[in-house]
Amino acid sequence: MSERDQVLLRVVTDLLSLIADHNRLNTQLRYQERYDTLTGLPNRHLLQERIDLALHDAREHRRTVALLFIDLDGFKQINDSLGHPTGDRFLKHVSQVFATCVRPQDTLGRMGGDEFLLLMPDLPDARLADMAAYRLLEALQTPYLQEGQELRLTASIGISLFPRDGVDSMTLLKNAESAMHRAKETKRNGFLHYRPEHSRRAHNRLALEVQLRRAIERHELKVYYQPQYDLVSERIVSVEALVRWHHPQRGPISPGEFIPIAEQSDLIVDIGSWVLREACRQTMEWHQAGYPLLRMSVNISARQLLRPEFIAEVAAIIHTTGLPANCLELEITEGVMLDDPMYAAHQIDQLHQIGVRVVLDDFGTGYSSLAYLRQLPLDALKIDQAFVRAIDEQNQMVTNSRALLRAIINLAHSLGLAVIAEGVETPEQRIALASMGCDILQGYLFAPPLPAAEVWPTILRLQGDDT
Ligand code: C2E
Ligand code: MG
Ligand code: MG
Repeated sequence: MSERDQVLLRVVTDLLSLIADHNRLNTQLRYQERYDTLTGLPNRHLLQERIDLALHDAREHRRTVALLFIDLDGFKQINDSLGHPTGDRFLKHVSQVFATCVRPQDTLGRMGGDEFLLLMPDLPDARLADMAAYRLLEALQTPYLQEGQELRLTASIGISLFPRDGVDSMTLLKNAESAMHRAKETKRNGFLHYRPEHSRRAHNRLALEVQLRRAIERHELKVYYQPQYDLVSERIVSVEALVRWHHPQRGPISPGEFIPIAEQSDLIVDIGSWVLREACRQTMEWHQAGYPLLRMSVNISARQLLRPEFIAEVAAIIHTTGLPANCLELEITEGVMLDDPMYAAHQIDQLHQIGVRVVLDDFGTGYSSLAYLRQLPLDALKIDQAFVRAIDEQNQMVTNSRALLRAIINLAHSLGLAVIAEGVETPEQRIALASMGCDILQGYLFAPPLPAAEVWPTILRLQGDDT
C-alpha cells in the first residue's frame, strides 16, 4: 500500500468510527428523549405519542382507551427523610412492581417525580381499567426492604376514559390528573374516575386563590380570638388568634378551606405575617385600655417558620408593638418537621432564644410524635380535639383513650411541657382533663373564637368579674 493509500485508509476508518460514534450518540439521545433515565420507562413524550396512536386506533375501531394517572402518597417524606438516592431506588422499585401489573399492549410510563401513567388501549370493557387500578394499589402493599428498613407507600389513581371523558390526549391527561387529585383529597390509597366536578373544583380553587391575594388589602381578613382557661389560676390567661375571611360574595369562609390554599403558595407568608402583627397589636391595645396583659397564641405555617428572615420579623413585631416576648406564643404543627427537620429545629431554637414561647399544635394527629418532644425546645403541647372528643364518647375505646391521654399528659409534664387541650365542649371533658392534670383548656365550653370587641366582655363574664 502506498503512503497515500495508507493515509486515505486512516482517514476513512476515522470517519467511519466518527459516524458510528455519532449514530450511537444519536440513538442514545433519541432514547433519552423518549425514555426516563431513572426507571427506563417511556417518558412524557413517548407516552404522548402512544396515547395519540391509541386514540387514532380507537376512533377507527370504536374502542375504549383508559388513562390511569398514578401518584404516590407521601413520597416526599421518603425523599426528605431518607435522602434522594433512597428515593430514586424506591421509584425504580415501584416502576418494576407496576410493570408486573400491566397487559402486554399497555404502556406504563413515568410523567416525572412520583407520577406514573398507565395507558390502556383497545379496551373491550371499561372495567378492565378498574381492575388494573386495584392491581397497582395491591402490588404496592408488599413492603420494599431498604437497608433493613421496610418502606411502603400507597398511591392515588385518577382514571379518564376515551371517549367518555375527552377525545384528545390533552383533555384525557388533564382529566385523569384532576381525578387523581380528587382521589388524594378524599381517600388516598384508592382510585376515582374523572367527573366534570373535578375540573370545576380545580377551577374554583384557583379563583379562590386569586381572590385571597386581594383579601388582605381589601380588609376582608379579620382575626378572631378564642379564650384559653387556666385550670390552676381558674382564669382566662391567654387567647388564640384564628383568622377569618369574610368573602364579599360567599360570606364567611373557614380557615380550614382557605389556609391550605394559601399554604400551597407564598400567600401564607403574607397572611401569616399580617395575622401575627395584628394579633400583637391587639394584645397591646387591650392592655393599654386597662385590661390585664393576655398571652397571645398565633398559628404559624411551615413556610413561614422555614424562611430565614422569620426570626427577625418576629423580633421586629415584638419591638414595634411593645409586646413582651414571653406574651407571644407561636403554634406550630409536626408538619414543619417534614421538609427540613434540622432547619426547623434551628428556627424553633432561635425563637426560643428571643424569648417567644413555642407550642406544638394538634398533637396526636401527626407522624412520629414523641421524637420531637425531646429534641425541640418546646414550651407546651396542645392536644388535638380528636382526643378530647373521645373522652365522653359512648364506646369501648373510651378507657383506652383516657389512658392514652393520661400518659401523654404525664409524659409532657415529665419533659417540662405545659399541656393545653383544645375543643373542650362538655363539663365532663373539663372534669376529666382537670383530673388528668391538664393545664389549660380551650373550647366552646368557655367561648368560641370571638371578634376583638367581644373578647374582654366575654372574659369578664366567664370570670364573674363584670359585676
Ligand atoms: P387550630 O389551630 O387547631 O385551631 C383550632 C380550631 O378548632 C379552630 O378552628 C377553632 O375555631 C376550633 N374550635 C375551637 N374550639 C372548639 C370546640 O369546642 N369544638 C370544635 N369542634 N371546634 C373548636 P378554625 O378557626 O376553623 O381554624 C382551623 C385551623 O386553621 C386552625 O386549627 C389552624 O390550623 C388554621 N388557622 C387558623 N388561623 C390561622 C392563621 O392565622 N395562620 C395559620 N397558619 N393557620 C391558621
Ligand atoms: Mg392552633
Ligand atoms: Mg389545633
